[in-house]
Amino acid sequence: MSDDATNSNMSRRELLETMGKVAAASVALTPLVQSALGIPDAMAADAAPLTAVAGVDRIAVSPGKTYLNGWAGYGDPPRRERGRGAPVTPPPESPGPTPTVTWSKESGPGAVTFADAKAPVTTATFSALGAYVLRLTVDNGQSTVSSTLNVVVRTPPPSTHLDAVHTKNYKINNPLWSSRAKALMVNWIPHCIDQINRTDLQQGPGGIDNFIEAAKALSGQPHGNHKGYVFSNAWVHQTVEAMSIALMIDPQGDQEIIRAHEKMRATLEDWIPKILAAQHPDGYLQTAFTLRNPERWPDRWTPQGRGNHEGYTAGYFLESAINHYLMTDRKDARLYDAAKKLADCWYDNLGPAPKKEWFDGHQEMEQALVRFGRFVNEVEGGNKGQKYIELARFLLDCRRNGTEYDQSHLPVVQQYEAVGHAVRAVYTYSGMADIAIETHDVDYQSAVISLWDNIVNRKYYVTGGVGSGESSEGFGPNYSLRNNAYCEACSSCGEIFFQWKMNLAYQDAKYADLYEETLYNALLGAIDLEGRNFYYDNPLDSNAPRTPWHTCPCCVGNIARTLLMLPTWMYAKGAGGIYVNLFIGSTATVENVAGTDVQMVQATDYPWNGKVSLTVNPKAQRKFGIRIRVPNRNVSSLYESTPDSNGIASISVNGSAVKPTIEKGYVVITRAWKAGDKIDVAFPLKVQRVRASEKIAADRGRVALRYGPLVYNIEKVDQDITQVLGPGPALNTEWRGDLLGGVMIIKGTFADGSPLTAIPNYARYNRNPPAPPAPVPPSGTGAAGRPAPRPPTSIVWMRAE
Ligand SMILES: [Zn+2]
Repeated sequence: MSDDATNSNMSRRELLETMGKVAAASVALTPLVQSALGIPDAMAADAAPLTAVAGVDRIAVSPGKTYLNGWAGYGDPPRRERGRGAPVTPPPESPGPTPTVTWSKESGPGAVTFADAKAPVTTATFSALGAYVLRLTVDNGQSTVSSTLNVVVRTPPPSTHLDAVHTKNYKINNPLWSSRAKALMVNWIPHCIDQINRTDLQQGPGGIDNFIEAAKALSGQPHGNHKGYVFSNAWVHQTVEAMSIALMIDPQGDQEIIRAHEKMRATLEDWIPKILAAQHPDGYLQTAFTLRNPERWPDRWTPQGRGNHEGYTAGYFLESAINHYLMTDRKDARLYDAAKKLADCWYDNLGPAPKKEWFDGHQEMEQALVRFGRFVNEVEGGNKGQKYIELARFLLDCRRNGTEYDQSHLPVVQQYEAVGHAVRAVYTYSGMADIAIETHDVDYQSAVISLWDNIVNRKYYVTGGVGSGESSEGFGPNYSLRNNAYCEACSSCGEIFFQWKMNLAYQDAKYADLYEETLYNALLGAIDLEGRNFYYDNPLDSNAPRTPWHTCPCCVGNIARTLLMLPTWMYAKGAGGIYVNLFIGSTATVENVAGTDVQMVQATDYPWNGKVSLTVNPKAQRKFGIRIRVPNRNVSSLYESTPDSNGIASISVNGSAVKPTIEKGYVVITRAWKAGDKIDVAFPLKVQRVRASEKIAADRGRVALRYGPLVYNIEKVDQDITQVLGPGPALNTEWRGDLLGGVMIIKGTFADGSPLTAIPNYARYNRNPPAPPAPVPPSGTGAAGRPAPRPPTSIVWMRAE
């Protein structure tokens, strides 16, 4: 909707409120109401103006089409935000003659062909690459209005994609990540295990006990009821995956990690038979269904049952089986075989007629089926996993006639704006990116790159988080990025998956720049330094401590499994050789590059220091490329970081400087590599001031600080956080080994001369006193039904001159 249309509605609403006659809820006024209210004709005409909505800006991948879902009528267009079936906003009654509609090209380098230029809903194709403006004109014989949208027509991604590098046995040797991983392994995962084993949880119940009871029900024994949410199997499966990954991390003699590993091994041996005993003979697995009340939940995969998270839980099970199989070096196939049985059960039941058409209200199965299908292809060969990838596409293609909340308001290939529940959204887009990679379907490619562009350039926080929370746990309008954000930890996981897949598709470092941002800020900060508490939502204005559990513990295992899968995020491989996407002191192996396995040893204190030494140890000498990401801190056009800190300061191979060649954000070194060859690269790390686009109202007159990938917070425990930072004084770093597990702090002075201390965003709220109790909100709740925010005590965006 155009700004003008909004203003016109607001003025009508204000007018009605001042008249004190009606609660201003309806959009269109019938002549009867109009005369009852005594509103003159001219004003009523203004009340439901002729409206044209061309749609949202997007990218079209050549030679594809773009789907135009224009709207023409009176008043606001209907919008399916929430609820199933009827739209929340009713279509306005028409106070005027039926308008005619015309699409036309306003500008652009080539010809535009509309499938039907007289229909609001149609398609357009373009004869040349470049930027176009399309215009939708609506004419009712009395007046004419129009609206435009921008379409950028681009070439498709490369025809081949990069391959994922599996996380297998690896070592972490890095000041930041060694301690973060240890906290997860020694405290967080064991805590999740204990919580899941409990049968007395009042908050966020439903752990392994649900599997035990479901197994009883399956074998016809008396059994207890299902506990907790219908999706409570999710955190059990995620924790299985997190344990499997953690067990692939070399403890390097650390006794605490060794003890935690023993607990994880014992837990897997305890849980796996219990989980498998709850699997139906045909492979179906979802304890909430097994223990359901059949009157309220008669069957699997029904349109009424979209809220039952059947795919959400199944998807996490498939994913857990992959890492368990890898962890056991493909020797223990219990979970892998059970996952295949579950995927087969879905494949046998869902699909084109005579099978069932269906989609889940909470996406996850789609991306899991692709991940699992690729894995089966790799393990068994013969394209045996292809049917799971086909099913993933089918499930995505089934989404329509629903709501924005779960991204079913339009067919997915017609979605160009990120809307609705943020976890569901990024999981959808991540699955769509998979399908675009697998099928080269140009409609999928266009939708995926448009959604990416919409998020990164309009709905993206400087911390790499997404989801302002203005829709239920979801996205708000373009540029509406309040700092009391939602940014659920699971949406950060999904954002990493999505950006990582874009990196595999486009082989461009900028996508890794983005997931590095999310990983180091929005996600890493979700767990406290001790690994004992977590944040469900991750606002940039922090005002509440982390908690050990949550009424909805959907994030608890997701955070751990995502943070620990480092080799997968660090490396990718393809025809161009090995892609180095993250800089973490570690030893990991990239298998099957130019016919050999290559051990990659990174020695670095990054992000505290920009020097990275990379030792390349191929099993056999081979010629291949190594592409090292050259960090770019300005990928999102929403934020500008100064002074410039991009690029590389120096690079050498075996001590000899090399003249770098940069391709798609990577410095490329191609040579015959032999064991022990060493690349030394240095990245400039500077304290940067970040300014947000003026379009983001919440950040106007404010500045954020960053150092490398890390965004910084100022905390009330160190200073008055309402202070103003002037433009002049230099900001410096100082290593503080005694603080927050060892952090580089940023020091400077505020405009009034008082000292400024900033700490990394991930370390926020680890030493602050408990927050004061929430004041009673004066008028109910906030915009999306959340309590009014407490004043923040740790903030990213500080006031600036
Ligand atoms: Zn979550």
